[in-house]
Amino acid sequence: MAEIRRTVVVKLDVTDSDAALLDETIDEYLWACNYVVDDAWQDDYKPTSKSKLHDRTYGDVREQTRLQANLVQSARNRAAEAIKGVVARWQNGKKASQPQFTTPSIRYDKRSATFHNDHVSLSTVDGRIDAEYVLPPEGGNPQTTYLRNGDYEVTGATLQHRDSTDTFFLHIGTKAEVESEIPDEGDTEHSTVLGVDLGIEQLAVTSTGMFWSGGYLNHRRREYERVRGDLQRVGTESAHRTLERIGDRETRWVEDYLHRISKAIVDEAVAHNCDTIAFEELTDIRERLPGAKKFHAWAFRRLYDYVAYKADAKGIETTQVDPAYTSQRCSKCGTTLEENRQSQARFCCQKCGYEVNADYNAAKNIGFRLLRAGQKSPHGGATRHLALKSGTLNVNGGYSPADQ
Ligand SMILES: [Zn+2]
Repeated sequence: MAEIRRTVVVKLDVTDSDAALLDETIDEYLWACNYVVDDAWQDDYKPTSKSKLHDRTYGDVREQTRLQANLVQSARNRAAEAIKGVVARWQNGKKASQPQFTTPSIRYDKRSATFHNDHVSLSTVDGRIDAEYVLPPEGGNPQTTYLRNGDYEVTGATLQHRDSTDTFFLHIGTKAEVESEIPDEGDTEHSTVLGVDLGIEQLAVTSTGMFWSGGYLNHRRREYERVRGDLQRVGTESAHRTLERIGDRETRWVEDYLHRISKAIVDEAVAHNCDTIAFEELTDIRERLPGAKKFHAWAFRRLYDYVAYKADAKGIETTQVDPAYTSQRCSKCGTTLEENRQSQARFCCQKCGYEVNADYNAAKNIGFRLLRAGQKSPHGGATRHLALKSGTLNVNGGYSPADQ
């Protein structure tokens, strides 16, 4: 089992009166941190143990602030860590002065805060306040992905007040226990990449020859646009509400579909022992793909995020590579010619005669691009291989059949 930790940053929606309460809480919390450090600085031999610092300061801080017990302990822990840091520097012969706490932030744990799917309840100097998370309108982003996923457990959070914009942010720590799917013994020399090509006719094609048609998505999008056109022509308030409802439902359908494809792509990577999944760069993908709509750019981005998230949970990295010439290069002999791309669907190498589905050829090139990029593999200086249907290809074009 391996443990994965992710920090999710969310903006909080707080009323003016709650914001004032949070500011007061931050002030008293920082005062408490500084009080503990001041107390420790009374001694030549600085105490660093939490229990010693607790005995010396807890009563005073409780008396002089309105902080709840858990926040007093949190302030003391933060002070203890800072004192330890200074002492460690001294022990290494380095200079360090008394820590000062000025950054407006508070560390909350699961006793001083309660984390919900869409809001948090925070302890303040005057009871608790509820603050909604400000999340992007659609689901599937990292915030909702980690916060609403049952596999990820919230461990705590740091509240920050950004003075520049007068806004509050919560840096929420999450963790998950995952089964490591990557063999980490005896196979350190091997690092395998799965290439993925995205498109309109074929939504996704892998270097191992798996195809997911874009037909379903394109059909749904056209249907939705037809209904939307009709309702817009009606133009009434109720037609507008119907339109919004259908739009939300449509988005959920599409997201659900993309979730299923992303799962299949990650399964494919696991099945081929891949430790990296390579996509083409998504920026400007609309300009590169004839006929791509805003919808496609959105769907590609969403699919990429889903894959990255699911792959992460399996210990697989997801990355984007420069897409230049991946559709014109022959994945067999390496020749790059504009004429190689015969049509939207067909690739035929003018040099070696290799004839293959154009998206499949591109998927292999995308994976190959990563091998060539010489990016450090997660396994150190390992040789990279590209996962193919029935074997792997190394960076020099050497093919090894699958040994199973
Ligand atoms: Zn060729």
